[in-house]
Amino acid sequence: MLVLGIESSCDETGAALIQDGRYLLSNVVASQIEVHNRYGGVVPEVASRQQLSAIIPVLETAFAQAGCQWEDVDAIAATYGPGLAGSLLVGLTVGKSLALARNLPFVGVNHLEAHIYANWLRQNEQPREADMNWCEGDPEFPLICLVVSGAHSELVLVRDHGQYELLGQTRDDAAGEAFDKVARILGLGYPGGPAIQHAAQQAEDALQRQNKPIKQARKAYLLPRAWLRGTYDFSFSGLKTAMLHLAEGATQLAPEQRSTGHSGQVSRYVRMGEQSAQGGALDVGLLASSFQEAIVDVLAVKTRQAAQEYKVKQVLLAGGVAANASLRERLRRELAPLHVQVSYPPIEFCTDNAAMIGSAAYFHLKGGERHDFDLDVQPGLSLPFAQR
Ligand code: ATP
Ligand code: MG
Ligand code: FE
Repeated sequence: MLVLGIESSCDETGAALIQDGRYLLSNVVASQIEVHNRYGGVVPEVASRQQLSAIIPVLETAFAQAGCQWEDVDAIAATYGPGLAGSLLVGLTVGKSLALARNLPFVGVNHLEAHIYANWLRQNEQPREADMNWCEGDPEFPLICLVVSGAHSELVLVRDHGQYELLGQTRDDAAGEAFDKVARILGLGYPGGPAIQHAAQQAEDALQRQNKPIKQARKAYLLPRAWLRGTYDFSFSGLKTAMLHLAEGATQLAPEQRSTGHSGQVSRYVRMGEQSAQGGALDVGLLASSFQEAIVDVLAVKTRQAAQEYKVKQVLLAGGVAANASLRERLRRELAPLHVQVSYPPIEFCTDNAAMIGSAAYFHLKGGERHDFDLDVQPGLSLPFAQR
């Protein structure tokens, strides 16, 4: 079954032609990163206008790259939520219109479910080292999925196709949101995840060249971790605030004030004696590395605990933050002793794309599901959780 998938939930416009939910004939993504970069985040009104101008060229490119004709397409799918209403409306309306015009079955796709189904997509080429995930064939149920994206952070038990149980979720910021906000605080640009990963990597490489242990260096900053013990919930806003206080203190206070410990908030997060060792200035790369470590720490430990409690043999990563090299590596290390397999999509399928829409749609269509053309956008849609 060949599905045309369309994605337009936020600031990426995507179209993909996907065979049997797994095999890529084409996957085209137009990103608005440059447009939103100057604002430090996505401006909804700008995003929807950009969607409108990108959608047709993106669709045409997807057909051209796949070498497909309309006659080859068996069904059409588009994201209907969650996301920005104005952006969602573009892809959903185009998807429904094309289905009506071509007399093809249509199915609306839940964007979060699609992030999970990115794990079913196969790579056409030999995987790059960063994407080695040792997952041959489809993921096997039951499994735990850590969904970490720009607006969501959820630990989900997936018993079978479409059977989701919510184990825990963030009580404030999503992991990706924390990366984005902290990158802004540190002046690293948008989107924050890749920027922080890059800055951290550079700092870590420099330390390694000087033969200095990274773990030791990170101890310069005392960053909080919200463990919320006894739950699988997350909280990243305290960590974000600590980063804000560190950065504000660094720009507003003279070095002599900081080193005397009168800087209030700043000194709470900086180990005494470390400031003078760094010449009074905050080390942005080392801060990025410490922040990334703090987030990864909590995500990896909680995911491991969930895998143990529910005795699953497989853990999936999903969403934009699943692209993070440090999270991937740490989770593998955390789960290897338990013989639990960790899988994640190739980097380009972690962030928003239409291939994952085509994949999720296939499993719904195969079960006979269709949507009528009165399907509307649902900006606040969540995964269809079963009662526990
Ligand atoms: P949602 O899927 O919850 O609706 P979204 O679609 O905006 O939100 P995604 O596209 O899944 O989110 O992911 C984008 C997020 O992923 C951004 O917050 C970005 O900073 C983060 N991200 C991307 N690459 C990395 C990385 N290498 N490390 C950490 N975070 C990353
Ligand atoms: Mg995006
Ligand atoms: Fe997303």
